[in-house]
Amino acid sequence: MSEETEPLIQDRDHGHGGAEQEAAQCQTRAIRIRAIVWSFLALIFILSVIIVLVGPDNYGDIGPGTLPRDPDAAARKLLHMAPVIDGHIDLPMVVRYGWRNNVSAIPLDDKMPMHVDILRLRDGKVGGFFWSVYVPCADSSAEGKEFVNPTWSVRDTLEQIDVAKGLITKYPETFQFTVTSTDVKESIAQGKIASLLGVEGAHQLGNSISVLRQYYDLGVRYVTLTHTCHNAFADSCGYLETIPPLHYGLSPFGFKLIEEMNRIGMLVDLSHTSDMTAAHAIMHSKAPVIWSHSSARAVHDVARNVPDEVLGMIGTGKGQKDGIIMVNFSPSFVAPDGEADVKKVADHVEHIANVVGKKHVGIGSDFDGVLDTPKGLEDVSKYPNLIAELLRRGWDKYELAGFTGGNFLRVFAAAEDVARKLQAAGTSPVYDVYEKRDDFPEWEY
Ligand SMILES: [Zn+2]
Repeated sequence: MSEETEPLIQDRDHGHGGAEQEAAQCQTRAIRIRAIVWSFLALIFILSVIIVLVGPDNYGDIGPGTLPRDPDAAARKLLHMAPVIDGHIDLPMVVRYGWRNNVSAIPLDDKMPMHVDILRLRDGKVGGFFWSVYVPCADSSAEGKEFVNPTWSVRDTLEQIDVAKGLITKYPETFQFTVTSTDVKESIAQGKIASLLGVEGAHQLGNSISVLRQYYDLGVRYVTLTHTCHNAFADSCGYLETIPPLHYGLSPFGFKLIEEMNRIGMLVDLSHTSDMTAAHAIMHSKAPVIWSHSSARAVHDVARNVPDEVLGMIGTGKGQKDGIIMVNFSPSFVAPDGEADVKKVADHVEHIANVVGKKHVGIGSDFDGVLDTPKGLEDVSKYPNLIAELLRRGWDKYELAGFTGGNFLRVFAAAEDVARKLQAAGTSPVYDVYEKRDDFPEWEY
């Protein structure tokens, strides 16, 4: 019997006790119950406020505990709860170039020659990544100046989608094919590596918005507006040095492409684009934008990196657009020859965080798409080194959980929401055709 219940029993035993005493006891009891109820409600309110404040950034169950003091141990513990979601990995390209797309022959559960295999993905605490279904720009003389001659880009892209899906299916214990932000979270909760598809360049659309819709139906969730070549929709930045513009940003057809991407929920990826293309796309897109694999030009001055003027357009302030810059590890974009290491990559992360905010930076390694890698970030098993470096620089666990994957999931979910709203509002699909095409048959009816 507890002290709390004693008075109640006494009351019952002394049924004819003084009415005043009984009333006083009733009052005390009521006050006590009210106090308990109010404390409970206050606790719920405080917890709700905490969830609302940290919730959007809270990725994985990071929990209230503290991380170990040792940065390496802390990085591993954090990644266990908030694993890496990488914006750009070129594994399907390795299969095309090394195995003629023979998925059966790929030993992904053994040692692969480049930067990615299952053992190293697990070691590096990877929770998900975009499988880049990349094919190179067509030869410009074959494609023609106005991009109207047929190429194999769409066939080859379909083959790369097939390769990615084949490998995801071949290792069902490891990978899970995912197409929504919710899928990604569920897949990670089940201990699988969430597998998304990204098309690396609108040249892969064959200059057709119909193809965009069909890629979406196949599960593709971002299209990079250009690769290293211009296309009918937009100007590229070139590679290390800027190439002369063609459209001076997006072409009129490119604006239409953005509208359809927004409507269907295809993420607009600005890696590889010219600064003007990026600026046009940010202003025109209703949905947040991404850079699936780009670093900061202020840290290393190459055309492929994002300049501060463009970074300044990203954010949640007035006139800005939400978005995420997922930092590329490729040594030629990170630092002068021979100087790329994990600290330099962290410099890019911190610069972007300083200009745009920590909620707008993520990871887009480019593993398997580059021949060289930075010291300390040699392959997918090394992500913890970058997290440890950021811990040493004072990043807290919530900021890091955003960096590893939470920031990307926020942006992805917001783009899904824009598509839902546009569709609910009855927005028509875009049926515009590239104006330079002359291959449509024309009959008089
Ligand atoms: Zn690329």
